[in-house]
Amino acid sequence: MFISEIKSSYEEDISILIKPDNHPWSYLCECGDAKALNVKEIQNCNAIFISHTHIDHFVNFDAVIRHQIGIQRRVIICGPKGIAKQVQSRIKSYTWNLINEDAIVYEIREMISESKFITYEITPPVWELKQLKEVNSALIFEEKSFSVSATLLDHKVPTLAYLFKEKDTLKIDLDSSNFKGGKWVKDLKTAYEQQNVNTTIIINEENYIAKDLFHLLHIQKGDSVGIIMDHAANEENHLKIKKLFFKCKKVFIESFYKNEDKELAVLNFHSYANMSGKIMKECEVENPIPVHFSRKYTENEVQELINEFENHLR
Ligand SMILES: [Zn+2]
Ligand SMILES: [Zn+2]
Repeated sequence: MFISEIKSSYEEDISILIKPDNHPWSYLCECGDAKALNVKEIQNCNAIFISHTHIDHFVNFDAVIRHQIGIQRRVIICGPKGIAKQVQSRIKSYTWNLINEDAIVYEIREMISESKFITYEITPPVWELKQLKEVNSALIFEEKSFSVSATLLDHKVPTLAYLFKEKDTLKIDLDSSNFKGGKWVKDLKTAYEQQNVNTTIIINEENYIAKDLFHLLHIQKGDSVGIIMDHAANEENHLKIKKLFFKCKKVFIESFYKNEDKELAVLNFHSYANMSGKIMKECEVENPIPVHFSRKYTENEVQELINEFENHLR
């Protein structure tokens, strides 16, 4: 399961923190200026996901470096083409003569097409950008229990939308059996996964055939969270969103403008309340959440915008 939290207030820039349960690290999506994001949370980040580097999504990256320097770990930064150089430029605007070589390693993954990313590495104190490899995959990040895939949307610049997907897990229902847990549960799960239907499973010194116990197993679907930031409300973007986020459990989606400002949305390659709500309905997302509103709106106007979004979910 993913625990996700918006760290920015409506008048701040967007920043979302995702924490998978039973997992030591957190994951930061967007580096907008969000005061609620604290030092500990930044230090605990294992990877950072940036949709694009307009200033409202990247301005807080200085705070990230400020708090992460010295953690002596590798931190992954994912983003669109050009972000490696931009990360380097930001870092190099400071003086680093007192920093050890092992203070941190940033690995930057630049998504350059729907199915290819390039990885770079940058380390103190010189912060030279080294290209590591090209990877042919839309899966930009992977851990044992979950993965993150990305798609490129159009916002007059390419922006990345990310899908965090927990792996499905095999569960056993001991309550409906007369058995107690033990090593045999692992053996049974292995037999199921490898489809060794006739494997012998030993429970309390008695032999069973694996397939006779398979009814005790079921697959628990993994959780999913989507992050869809700035994008033009056009057909091509919507097709990509529908493809990646269909039946996603929870999605944070940019709804920058109210319906009455639709012209501004078109002009600035953004989405607007109705349209973001409509696309979430078409994606059959269980829990869609509108985020990232224009700062020209008052708190009341933001509430109206959210109502417009919700009206289109029904
Ligand atoms: Zn933008
Ligand atoms: Zn933005």
